Amino acid sequence: MERLIEIAGAGPAGIVAAINLSKAGYDVTVYDENPDAGHRFHGDFQGIENWSSHEDAADLLKRIGILVKPGADFIFQPYKKITVFDSNLNMTVVRCERPFFYLVERGTGPGSLDSMLLKACLDAGAKVVFNKKVDMLKRGGIVGIGPKAADAVARGIIFNTTMEDTAAVILDDRLAPKGYAYLLIHGGKGTIAACIFREFKREKECFERTLQAFQRVFPAVNIKGAKEFGGYGNFFFGKPVFENGKYYVGEAAGLQDCLWGFGMRYAMASGYLAAKSIIEGIDYASLLKKELLPMQRTALVNRFLFERLGNKGYAYFIRRFSSGNPVEELRRHYNPSFFKPLLYPIAAWRYKSRLIDKGCHAGDCACVWCRCGSKENPC
Ligand SMILES: Cc1cc2nc3c(=O)[nH]c(=O)nc-3n(C[C@H](O)[C@H](O)[C@H](O)COP(=O)(O)OP(=O)(O)OC[C@H]3O[C@@H](n4cnc5c(N)ncnc54)[C@H](O)[C@@H]3O)c2cc1C
Repeated sequence: MERLIEIAGAGPAGIVAAINLSKAGYDVTVYDENPDAGHRFHGDFQGIENWSSHEDAADLLKRIGILVKPGADFIFQPYKKITVFDSNLNMTVVRCERPFFYLVERGTGPGSLDSMLLKACLDAGAKVVFNKKVDMLKRGGIVGIGPKAADAVARGIIFNTTMEDTAAVILDDRLAPKGYAYLLIHGGKGTIAACIFREFKREKECFERTLQAFQRVFPAVNIKGAKEFGGYGNFFFGKPVFENGKYYVGEAAGLQDCLWGFGMRYAMASGYLAAKSIIEGIDYASLLKKELLPMQRTALVNRFLFERLGNKGYAYFIRRFSSGNPVEELRRHYNPSFFKPLLYPIAAWRYKSRLIDKGCHAGDCACVWCRCGSKENPC
């Protein structure tokens, strides 16, 4: 591969690839169609989950070239307590020594994950060009252009509050069909959202019910200065992750947590693996197959099983989850056991992504997202 690398997309996946390649001496340019990194987000809080792997998320960041310093220039806050509600709003407080997740802010603001990654990328020597949409990478490169279809939809608000730092979840299909409603508060700012996997047309109603439910269980939330946000996530299997010199990373490769939409870990890890593949000449697909695909396939089986639970089943799940070591219990569910691979073909058949692959997959196709044959983009 040439020492010159072009990357489409300044999301976590593309930027982590850029950081690692620049540090290895490559001449890297990242292009993003938006005016800043994190533009698709709105200052909402998200969690980097800490249960799918033995490797702590803080150690993962270090391994992939991102230094998390104490009192760092971005929010990276461990949460060791989650309050979980069932559909009758019965409350269970779940605690664990190991953080469930690390809270980060997404968007263009100064303390966000996206701003931190952008700075690290520039410090590593990469060039970043904003307001530049990439349709083709004629010399190959890395494609990290995010989701292309909605398999999960989130709708919510960010707001100011005087309530203490809190993480809470409600499992109720009336609020978030086959997903979850969540509240995250950190340092006087909060996020409330419904993350839904079905009935997308009901997203507004789902969010309104979510808001009412959280205001009922936490009267102290006292929301001020609310701003709305929304977004979607996409996961799929089977499209080539490396084709015609192009490495697909993050959600552009379909890499996403199929159970609950925690895609940041997949995005950053795949960006790192694409860089590793280029630097060390190792097959990218094999790296993904070893590190991320077993977990993602298991997450799809988990989604298949989770969708079968319904409100009564969620209450059972909460009881199981809260007894013993909850992070360990979740990790057990993410590990490909003997049983889960057997269920994968059924889950894959049952759960198809809304994305239809229109790729031509021709040997000379340079499109980052194939639209060959379309009038706007003849190859
Ligand atoms: C509301 C919401 C809440 C979420 N909560 C969580 C959470 O709590 N935990 C978690 O782990 N994950 C969460 N996710 C998922 C997570 O944010 C994504 O999986 C992750 O950001 C994917 O990273 P990426 O780099 O693949 O893509 P993105 O972050 O989407 O970045 C893609 C970039 O490519 C740019 N781009 C697109 N097309 C082009 C083009 N043609 N040319 C140039 N640039 C282009 C875009 O502007 C964007 O900057 C959430 C997602 C949403 C929407």
